[in-house]
Amino acid sequence: MIPLAEVLAHPPATAQAAAISGEDLHALVRQLYPICRSITGDGVRQTLAVLQEYLPGLEVHEVPTGTPVLDWQVPREWNIRDAWIKDRRGERVVDFRQHNLHVLGYSVPVRGTFTLAELKKHLYTLPEQPHLIPYRTAYYAETWGFCLAHAQLEALHEPEYEVCIDSTLAAGALTYGELLLPGDTDEEVLISSHICHPSLANDNLSGIAVATFLARHLLGQPRRYSYRFVFAPGTIGAITWLSQNVGAVARIRHGLVLSLLGETGAFTFKKSRRGTAEIDRTVALALREAAAPHRVVDFEPYGYDERQYCSPGFNLPVGCLSRTPYGQFPEYHTSADDLDFVRPEALLDSLHLTQAVMHMLEANHRYQNLSPYGEPELGRRGLYAAVSGRPNAARAQLALLWVLNLSDGQHSLLDIAERAGLPFALLQHAAELLLAHDLLAPLAD
Ligand code: ZN
Repeated sequence: MIPLAEVLAHPPATAQAAAISGEDLHALVRQLYPICRSITGDGVRQTLAVLQEYLPGLEVHEVPTGTPVLDWQVPREWNIRDAWIKDRRGERVVDFRQHNLHVLGYSVPVRGTFTLAELKKHLYTLPEQPHLIPYRTAYYAETWGFCLAHAQLEALHEPEYEVCIDSTLAAGALTYGELLLPGDTDEEVLISSHICHPSLANDNLSGIAVATFLARHLLGQPRRYSYRFVFAPGTIGAITWLSQNVGAVARIRHGLVLSLLGETGAFTFKKSRRGTAEIDRTVALALREAAAPHRVVDFEPYGYDERQYCSPGFNLPVGCLSRTPYGQFPEYHTSADDLDFVRPEALLDSLHLTQAVMHMLEANHRYQNLSPYGEPELGRRGLYAAVSGRPNAARAQLALLWVLNLSDGQHSLLDIAERAGLPFALLQHAAELLLAHDLLAPLAD
């Protein structure tokens, strides 16, 4: 039997919460930050190799260039070793080794001398933020370019510059990582993060870090669901994964795309295309219970890889959890999205929220009230007198009454929490107490 004191106490989000610090998450972000990632190439492989140190079961998949994937094709693989613009003294005035954002992603190789006017056609800056380097890519256009601070551009006055981009664009593979944590059932929860951005900390590394530590947490927990973690390049990676995993897709019951979880802005949850899926309601409830500033917004076919998971043919119950959404903070897709922008405490809060969501999914059962004609006499069973006079006693009492009343076979604990406005954990413990007194029976999920 569960001691009543436990029913009264709102339990911590996780038993292991204290064991992981925000600094642990930030250390992983720091380790991954220098790697030059793109939608293909060695940067993705290096990133996954680091993640394998944290998650030894993580499998790395290579899908060859040219493989048809849904309506797309796996592109040529891009790798880069060096890139620079040199002035007449041979000084690097723009240097890939100083910051990997300096190269337009997927630039074709180039070597030569260009007039400043010709060169400027290949330079990208942010005049409104003159000291920041923008992040730009040209995955599907055969071109080259450099990204630099506008202040750097304004300092270019020589008539000609020597340019080198030492890259290769060749047949290879698209690389993604996948970890399956088996549960009691083969119904799956999908957690997906994109891994295609170079040195950007909040946009991609924060989601990767939260997903990695969520996986480590779940490894140590009993699991009803199986959990599938996908670390794949944005868009083409998710499309590739979907096309290669039709069997797994059919088993997905809930899913989250994790992204932009490292700065201190309010949480934003973008619901799945379905809008009323269990994951949509569970995240909304977890945010309400966390009492953190947040917004819940409807699905739209733009954003991260929920676009692919929620395309009409799949229509998976997959939402996207972030803090301040893409494009809505000045550091977005610039060199200011760096290691200082991402805060350990924000990463940890994000992790705890995802843990709370998974805990609720795991515990969201339906029960049958075995004494449904009138209220059962709680006092005779020690369930009434025992709670009186204690702090939160009234709420604990109310939780027992709500669970008894709505456990008619139709309502889950999530339904009850939404309707009663009581904490999910309080209702869960009330259900456990009632089960222990044979007042409830569990129903098949
Ligand atoms: Zn991005």
